[in-house]
Formats: sequence, structure tokens, C-alpha cells
Amino acid sequence: MKVTEGTIQQLRSEGTFLYDMSMINHFISCPSSYHKRHELGLMRNDLRLSTPLMFGSGIHRGIESWYANDKDDQQALEAFKLSFREHEEQPKLGKTGKELRAVYTLLFGCSLLTAYFNKYRGEVRTMMENEIPVAEELIEGIYLAGLIDKVFEVSGKLVFQDHKTSKYYQNFRLNPNGQFMNYKFLVQKLSGRKASGELDMLGVALNNGVNELLRREPFDYTEDQMREWRDSVVMWIKRMDSARELNQWPQSWNCEPYFKECQFLPLCTLPVSSARENLVQSMYHVDFWDPFSVE
Ligand code: SF4
Repeated sequence: MKVTEGTIQQLRSEGTFLYDMSMINHFISCPSSYHKRHELGLMRNDLRLSTPLMFGSGIHRGIESWYANDKDDQQALEAFKLSFREHEEQPKLGKTGKELRAVYTLLFGCSLLTAYFNKYRGEVRTMMENEIPVAEELIEGIYLAGLIDKVFEVSGKLVFQDHKTSKYYQNFRLNPNGQFMNYKFLVQKLSGRKASGELDMLGVALNNGVNELLRREPFDYTEDQMREWRDSVVMWIKRMDSARELNQWPQSWNCEPYFKECQFLPLCTLPVSSARENLVQSMYHVDFWDPFSVE
């Protein structure tokens, strides 16, 4: 089903948990960190939104606007700039004192989007959906959620598309990929039809021409692969349920995922646990995860 704010509230009031792949990956990475972020809703007061994440979000806003407004470039570029302007990366000084060029800038984003619009302006395909929040029941009482970027009808086939912006655009793993398998599950359940996927990559690099950074790649998973994904998701969610029942959330010491320090390090390095409550009060606030937004 397509999700509204009301749907999430209703599921929560019925005691139904709504998971997305980010939450499941968070639990796999460190149950203690998952507990603090997703069960207690803690967020560090001084946490700044990451520039690459906000750049990706701005690019999404630009492409969403382009498709929603009859491929109007100007409106789409304005949507990108509005979303990203306050997060733009500033040049830094390198070790030798020389200024290093910033990558995540308004100028680079506009060039990348313009190359994207020029490349795909003439393509013939029918857009069925543009940025849809979806939640579907995986097994009784367990709902999976995801925000699907686009769904197209291409030569009588249903294709869901996911836009990615990444510095690692040449090495992106499509198979296995828990997030994309979740999208296939959600789109097929929502539409009642078979669907395959398409990676829509907008790479991030200063040394390449922007046209070389654009890549589209189709992908799909067999029924066996989807069964294995489903069994794995169910098993991980059962472990999460069991951790909740026992109130046991072990640390896994994966404290710098994606080269970024875990926001709960001050809590895990406290010499005396009696000081914990005061530290929570002074350094964190409560803001629960919304599976349909960026963090
Ligand atoms: S600091 Fe390390 S051990 Fe503690 S919650 Fe974060 S990842 Fe887990």
C-alpha cells in the first residue's frame, strides 16, 4: 500500500512494527546502536547532516521535479538549489596549505543534473509513480517499508528505478543488495505484477567529465534469490524481536561505520554507568526515525 502519515500512526497504534532495510542493517551493524537510535529515538544534539547525504537528497529533489513538471530543467535546478544550498561544501586547506577543491557544490550538482536531463530527455517510457512511500506485510505482523524513486512502464514491463549519487559509482554492488530486493518485493506486492529494477547512477568525481558519471544498469533477482532475501530478513527481525523481549542489546564495536564515528560513542565510553542519564539529557534529544526521510 502507498503510505501516508496516517498509515504509519495507525500501524504504530496497533503495535505493528514497520522496518526498512536501513533499520535492519543498523541492527546487524551494532544492536546497541540500533537500540539507542531506533528503540529510544536518541539523536545527538550537535549532529550535522552529512554533506554527501544532503547532496544526494538535493539531486533526488531535482530529478523528482523534472519528471513531475514535464521535464522543465529550470524548475528542477531550482528545486535542487533550494534543497542543497545551505549544505554546500566549502573549500578546505590541504596538508601543504594549498586549497583543495570542494566536490559537493551547487555548481557541480547543476552540471551533473544538466548532463542528466540532456541525456534522458528523449527517452520513451511512461512514468507510473514518482517518489512513492510504500509499506507491505512480509509475514503476519511484520511490515517492510521503502521510498521508491520511480516506477516506469517500459515496453510492457514494470521497472522500478533508484537514483544513487556516490563517489564509488564504479563499484556499486547490485547483487545481493538488500535494499533493492526490498524494492522489488514492495513494487511487486503493490502492483500485483512482476517488476525488475534499474540503477540510475549519478557519480561524484571532479576529474571526470559529467557525462562519464551517468550510468544506468538493469538488474533483477530470481525467485530463489528473493526467497533467500526474505528468509534472511525474517530471521534478522526475529532476532530484533528477541532482543526487545529480553531487553538485551549487545555492543558489536563497529564504531566507525562508513568512516564516521558512531554518535553513541560518548555513552559507550562512559567510565561509570550512573552518569549515563545525565549525559543522555545533556547531549541527546528524542527524534524517531522516519523510513521515508533522509538522515
Ligand atoms: S559506540 Fe560502538 S559499541 Fe557503542 S553503540 Fe556505537 S557502534 Fe555500538
